[in-house]
Amino acid sequence: MNNKYNVVLLFGPPGSGKGTWGKILGMMPGFFHVSTGDMFRMLNVESKLGLRVMEIIRKGELVPDDITFNMWQEHVKNAVFVGSFRPQKDVLVLDGLPRTKPQAEMLQSVAAVRAILKLDCEDHEILIERLHRRAVLEGRGDDANEAIIRHRFEIYNRQIQQTLAFYPRDMMAYIDVTIPPVRILAAIGNVLSKSLTSMS
Ligand code: ADP
Repeated sequence: MNNKYNVVLLFGPPGSGKGTWGKILGMMPGFFHVSTGDMFRMLNVESKLGLRVMEIIRKGELVPDDITFNMWQEHVKNAVFVGSFRPQKDVLVLDGLPRTKPQAEMLQSVAAVRAILKLDCEDHEILIERLHRRAVLEGRGDDANEAIIRHRFEIYNRQIQQTLAFYPRDMMAYIDVTIPPVRILAAIGNVLSKSLTSMS
């Protein structure tokens, strides 16, 4: 593909704020945010696919790579079709994709990765606390059960190394998500203003 999407990747364990920061970035002119988690949660659970995906999410497992990537591609194509994402002008902010090495490989065929933000902190127990809060505030079933939350962290820890290993180290910016939000915003702005100004 000649014209690859210009992409910023948001990595981070559950509760690290990928969704929050993705949404904030997506509100800026010239950015378009896609969350694979939101995309799955919007599926109609009455459909066969919707039901299958819901069951996977409820268990804290990962949706198979081919389903994830194909759905994501359709989702982005629809956004182009309706004009909410203009690939020639806009930067695509991806939150939740890729989560595995095969997904990173598939993404490579359609995307030029311009920056990678790794949202994380040393003590994951802080994030687990945040997830308990989110379960109450947003009614997310996969955040309500301690065993499922811990299973999602296990999967994250298992997949993240080989997924990140796919990208050059100097492209990654680590952002500590326990610092005040305004400083996180500043850190993200700093990274993106540097990495996106050189965009051809
Ligand atoms: P979190 O980062 O807290 O796990 P998300 O909203 O990003 O929350 O994802 C919710 C769930 O959706 C995941 O636990 C997983 O089941 C599924 N999911 C999201 N993105 C992917 C992906 N790229 N590949 C496979 N499954 C995914």
